[in-house]
Amino acid sequence: MIEFINAGKTYPNGVVGLKNITLTIEQGEFVAIIGLSGAGKSTLIRTVNRMHDATSGKVIVDGIDVNTLKGKELRKFRRKIGMIFQSFNLVTRATVINNVLTSDIPDMPWYRTLFGIFTKEQKMKALKALDKVGILDKAYTRCDQLSGGQQQRVALARTLNQNPSIILADEPVASLDPIMADVVMDDFKRINKEMNITIIINIHHVDLALKYANRVIGIRSGEIVYDGKSEDVNQDVLDKIYAGKEVPEMVKEVVYG
Ligand code: ADP
Repeated sequence: MIEFINAGKTYPNGVVGLKNITLTIEQGEFVAIIGLSGAGKSTLIRTVNRMHDATSGKVIVDGIDVNTLKGKELRKFRRKIGMIFQSFNLVTRATVINNVLTSDIPDMPWYRTLFGIFTKEQKMKALKALDKVGILDKAYTRCDQLSGGQQQRVALARTLNQNPSIILADEPVASLDPIMADVVMDDFKRINKEMNITIIINIHHVDLALKYANRVIGIRSGEIVYDGKSEDVNQDVLDKIYAGKEVPEMVKEVVYG
């Protein structure tokens, strides 16, 4: 369970990223965070794994106040939380399976890391993760031979390989074409259902947010202006989140028909 209790984030330059956020996300939820560019979506998800520190209030994950974690404890905590980025962050000259295996490195003795020695069990686990996202046949292909969508599936498999209980995804489909975006969102949905992993996606495609997430959180200027079921998002809700500002092209047709 993730709890924000009056959590806020002010950046060192004085910019306020989040104000007084209070919310609870239960294990196994699929939540989409929507809002204009600069609304605070990234800041919100990055305070969950302490990529950013909340500067006021508390963020509590599975009973642990994340601001109290340091060093080894913080690293251990972060292993439970997968992170997916828009830009995949793969070693593109390496094979798919080697990219997936990199998520085992923090738990390995230094000499095995140095020589890249992975056990049969580790390889089997990595192949299983690739199977989960439908690209087992690409295991020994170099990542730079894959499409953007396939690369994002490798990133997802790498995250699954660390057995996370939560996956945070920051604009995971923003650079993909609509067909691949749907395929990758389907992967998230399947992982969420079959493995009960909490998924929190920061996304500006409102249509995809409504199609795949069970819960939508709309933020504007660092504050929550909507928190409810996807099916209850209507024109009034979208107006609260977007109206009066320049709306990104991708959401225009959803907001204004
Ligand atoms: P979104 O993800 O919705 O586009 P962000 O969370 O990235 O929004 O940003 C929220 C606000 O915080 C914006 O005003 C942004 O300019 C500011 N911000 C984000 N990161 C930093 C940073 N590292 N330093 C200063 N201000 C930042």
